[in-house]
Amino acid sequence: MENFKHYPQTTELDTSWQRLIALAIEKLPNAYAPYSNFLVSAALLMDDDTIVFGTNQENAAYPSGLCAERVAVFAAQSQQPHKKILRIAIVAKPATGQELASGASCGACRQVMLEAEYRQQQPIEIVMLTAKDRWTIAPSAESLLPFAFNKKNLISHY
Ligand SMILES: [Zn+2]
Repeated sequence: MENFKHYPQTTELDTSWQRLIALAIEKLPNAYAPYSNFLVSAALLMDDDTIVFGTNQENAAYPSGLCAERVAVFAAQSQQPHKKILRIAIVAKPATGQELASGASCGACRQVMLEAEYRQQQPIEIVMLTAKDRWTIAPSAESLLPFAFNKKNLISHY
């Protein structure tokens, strides 16, 4: 756990993180979350300084929806597959609330962010609000998913 850094407020983060978090917050209204009423937004800082966004998109057939992180990562990989993702900011908020809520990424999103990291052969830093007044920066997707399943498992059978 020592690889994770925690900060009580965003003003203690570098200005690049502050900007990315602010942009992610701006996109929260784009979430479509009529079932959970829990809005989530992910902003990806790409290596050309552009930003790719994703918000959670729910569906009446629940499993058909998708989390913000995967919407964003898949959009980035579809639209600009040769660019690397440097950082991901993830924010969440109840639809009826004003304050941000803690919202750590689910396991499926961690798996997808990890695959993106393997693919680009460069770590992706991730920030999320893991508790009230605790912004956590993970140094890589791998750090969020130890002992992960990956393509090596499909080749070797140890
Ligand atoms: Zn997820």
